[in-house]
Amino acid sequence: MFRFGLHVSIAGGLDRIFGRGEGLGVNAVQIFSHSSRSWEFDLPDDAALDAYHRSRSSSSVTRVYIHASYLINVASEDPTIAEKSKTTLRKELETADLLKADGLVLHPGSARGGDRSGAIFRASRIIREVLDSLPGLETPILLENTAGAGSMLGSRPEELGALFTEIDRPHHMGLCLDSCHLFASGFDLSTESGRDEVLSDFFQQVPSGRPSLWHLNDAMFGLGSGRDRHAGLGEGHVGTKGLAGIVRHAKSMEIPLILETPKGEGETLDRQNLRRLLDMANHPVPDALLDAR
Ligand SMILES: [Zn+2]
Ligand SMILES: [Zn+2]
Repeated sequence: MFRFGLHVSIAGGLDRIFGRGEGLGVNAVQIFSHSSRSWEFDLPDDAALDAYHRSRSSSSVTRVYIHASYLINVASEDPTIAEKSKTTLRKELETADLLKADGLVLHPGSARGGDRSGAIFRASRIIREVLDSLPGLETPILLENTAGAGSMLGSRPEELGALFTEIDRPHHMGLCLDSCHLFASGFDLSTESGRDEVLSDFFQQVPSGRPSLWHLNDAMFGLGSGRDRHAGLGEGHVGTKGLAGIVRHAKSMEIPLILETPKGEGETLDRQNLRRLLDMANHPVPDALLDAR
């Protein structure tokens, strides 16, 4: 089954995300489970969970991914930040499990000072300890490749591989590949042979041999810019041809695609980008997107 969707807001309650997705004709969504800029948040209460699961059970939106807070830095060498990151990651995972989310997307963190092997060790230890503290956990952590700026971990396949090896909990780990981040960290996706080589280098590092999720975004800046600035599909430097190659590849492997493209006012840009995604995939366009151009 071809699964595709976009990042949506949880404004008004977690149960509202299904209607939002349905209104756009998608079958997968990504959310922040709480304000992504704050450390403090509560687990959803019983009423919120009831409403959420009731809406989900009758929805055509069948996949829900959660993006972890940007504040979390499991690689931090600052003990206070590391401890807060650990507590917050644990809560994110508990929430994800309560919501029966299909994955919690997490950036591997950053190593200020440039000691990358130390950072990989610290990040892996925290992730492993959090996983081990939650027996029965079903939602996997999906490490996301990053844009390759400075001391951010996880832009190169070998580094993601080192993290997976060091974490050593293969059944709880997956990969989320972001096309903008790939391009920003210097991986050219515009030719078929280049793309296949890059993808197989990344796929080989994942315990399951393939990513669990794609973030499909164009890149506002050029190849190797190191800058994490997303653009609408076909409006950036990856371009329609490169993105269409990814979409066909993902579709053939049944890897879900989530858009994190700029939103602007209302839903106009979301509709446009979803329509472009479906055209790239040669997939029938749902009624909700027929007039989107
Ligand atoms: Zn991300
Ligand atoms: Zn992303």
